[in-house]
Amino acid sequence: MKIYIIAMLAIATVACTSAQKTTSKKQNTVEDYAATITSNELKEMLYVYAGDNMRGRMTGSKGQKLAVQYLKDFYVAQGIKSPLGGDNYFQNVPASYLTRLKEPADSENVVAFIEGSEFPEQIIILSAHLDHVGVDDDGNVFNGADDDGSGTVAMLEMAEAFQRAVKEGKGPKRSILFLHVTGEEIGLFGSRYYTENPLFPLANTVCNLNTDMIGRIDPDKADTPNYIYLIGSDKLSQELHEVSEAVAKKHSDLLIDYTYNDENDPNRFYYRSDHYNFAKNNIPVIFYFNGVHADYHKISDTPDKIEYDLMEKRTRLIFHTAWEIANREQRITADKL
Ligand SMILES: [Zn+2]
Repeated sequence: MKIYIIAMLAIATVACTSAQKTTSKKQNTVEDYAATITSNELKEMLYVYAGDNMRGRMTGSKGQKLAVQYLKDFYVAQGIKSPLGGDNYFQNVPASYLTRLKEPADSENVVAFIEGSEFPEQIIILSAHLDHVGVDDDGNVFNGADDDGSGTVAMLEMAEAFQRAVKEGKGPKRSILFLHVTGEEIGLFGSRYYTENPLFPLANTVCNLNTDMIGRIDPDKADTPNYIYLIGSDKLSQELHEVSEAVAKKHSDLLIDYTYNDENDPNRFYYRSDHYNFAKNNIPVIFYFNGVHADYHKISDTPDKIEYDLMEKRTRLIFHTAWEIANREQRITADKL
């Protein structure tokens, strides 16, 4: 009888403990959301996005239309809405605006939006260019896996991570606009069009984090490949630079390299991707970049050459930075103006 009672108690205790386990389920943290950004998913998407089917994604071309459809389908599948409302994820950029196109055609930026829970009117823009340089005279496809397939699919993974947080009641306090811009390769047209026709007032745009090429290794870095170049973080906002540094220190083991942030650097990368159209409008920016390499703007910029584990780390760093800027108490300001 005694033994029986002890056994009953033991069963009751076990039952009680397991019940507690299910009710006090562990709350996910930013680290858990960052961990959903994986090299496997980046790779899977990049093989499609930078595949031969997309025909090098030249602005206005059929391949570029396939690319924007791919992006839209992703956001629809994730349940991430368009800021334009309804089923329209495309900000039309008319042919008349794209003055450097050899064959005039309309194009479009792709936009998706997660509304902030506390400061919805304050907007953080994550951007990457969706276009590339098309096909050569012999029909060879410029896949643009690094440029800028890498930044594009990195944004999709970040969007998915933010949306998971939203579903668990941990969405960002500030709003996030996912802005895939067209016409970069012909002269930063899509980002300029956005800043001239913004969907949200530029005065409420907190910052722009732009990702253009994060899947490869600069030959100068062959011996120390665990790095990323940051450009522009301290140009308009000391605060943005400090937040970015603190996030990198806390959440990443990547070496943050500022070589190309130097005003006197002859490459002038600060002026050469889409963030510059935001900086021009006094919006603080950070440009995330791996530097150039032998396959830059060649038909050999293919998905098989991407360093997916490194790209995962770089994407997670950008995600952590966006998360911190979106959730901190005080808004980042252009304090160097
Ligand atoms: Zn690019």
